[in-house]
Amino acid sequence: MKVAKFGGSSLADAPQIRKVCKIIMDDPERRVVVVSAPGKGVTDDIKVTDMLIAAAKATLEKGLAAGTEEMEKIVARYARIAADLGVPEVMEDIAPAFRSLLSLHETLPPARFTDVLKAAGEDNCAKLVAACLTKMGKPAVYVNPGEAGMVLTNDFGNARVLPKSFDLLAKSLSGISEIVVFPGFFGRTEDGEIVTFPRGGSDITGAILTAALKADVYENFTDVDYVYSVNPKQVANPRPLTVVTYREMRELSYAGFNVYQEEALLPVYKTGIPVNVRNANNPSCPGTLIVPERGAFEDGRRVAGIASDSGFTSIYVSKYLMNREIGFGRRLLHILEDEGISYEHTPTGIDDMTVIVRDSMLSDEKLARIQRRIYNELGADDVQVETGLSLIVVVGEGMKHSIGIAAMATQALSQAKVNISMISQGSSEVSMVFAVKTEDCERGVRALYEAFFMND
Ligand code: ASP
Repeated sequence: MKVAKFGGSSLADAPQIRKVCKIIMDDPERRVVVVSAPGKGVTDDIKVTDMLIAAAKATLEKGLAAGTEEMEKIVARYARIAADLGVPEVMEDIAPAFRSLLSLHETLPPARFTDVLKAAGEDNCAKLVAACLTKMGKPAVYVNPGEAGMVLTNDFGNARVLPKSFDLLAKSLSGISEIVVFPGFFGRTEDGEIVTFPRGGSDITGAILTAALKADVYENFTDVDYVYSVNPKQVANPRPLTVVTYREMRELSYAGFNVYQEEALLPVYKTGIPVNVRNANNPSCPGTLIVPERGAFEDGRRVAGIASDSGFTSIYVSKYLMNREIGFGRRLLHILEDEGISYEHTPTGIDDMTVIVRDSMLSDEKLARIQRRIYNELGADDVQVETGLSLIVVVGEGMKHSIGIAAMATQALSQAKVNISMISQGSSEVSMVFAVKTEDCERGVRALYEAFFMND
């Protein structure tokens, strides 16, 4: 049995939704279908989720009339899709479901109100897809996540699944004989309130259902044929990844591979069920399989991919005889914790330590305060801040116990005249991280791709 999840671009309009229904009907093992809200498509260049966020904002900031104007655009979009699919009658349910939401701003706090609106995109899309499948001859039912047992923490806009959900979902979904169409992206809190995952969270819903139902595979349909070994925007026609491990995928998505919501691997990772990333516009392509373990690449390559991301700052701290001072590292990290900052890497020297942080965690004011605190509280000799950094990550399980990977990487970067500000390799040896100036990043990525994929 397969759980199949379809992203917003695969559901943007009626022709796309019909395509999705055909894919579902082509394989009798596709029993549970998770849908996003309609995304960007040929006729609409805006995602329904963004339209719903705009409607929530307009209501909260300008009042009901402004919110209604935004909401009517959404109702019109669903009405057009329903009419084109030949199921206009579903609008009798969908239109009032959307329209009834705006008045909730009077009773709900803003974050809860916004989540209720965001969730309605996937919720009503699932009703459309169920109606379309049934009309095409494959009986399907819409299932409400809250009722089915998708119980989440009450972090609005950033929810996490609660362990009890897995059993509840397995119980409520296993007896259904029709195709289950399950809206992604949201669930309910213990108190029964609607709450959403972070953006892109329909991937998480699909992974949870896969684990709960112990499916054989989780098919994640998107709009690319494969996950590639490097971002196709940086290197033309890169090598596709046919098989990749969870750990490799996690490292790649950490640094900019956005094919898949990064938190979504967790529920399937725990069960070892493979994930198959596929293209809804090219369903005959086998796509990328994400698995717990893989053998060596057939061509002997040791590296799976190269990823990069920009927007990092490094805070360099040095103090003579730091290495003898018990608790220095802890106290430095405690200052960051105190300022509400999570850090990414902490490469160390003998008497110095650098902490790499995402820019989104910092403001100028915070940075100045941190610098002052490091001088005052830790008695540091020198604190230097460097902004405008990018990280390049070379990823591959095959790097383990393999000699010469770092040499190849640094040689490629030096030939491309890229200065390395920091190198970090965890002892797992699955990835090697290089911090470089952002203006050198793309050149560095290309040089590394050439070294590992065209020459290695
Ligand atoms: N519709 C939501 C978003 O745009 C969730 C998803 O598509 O996965 O983030």
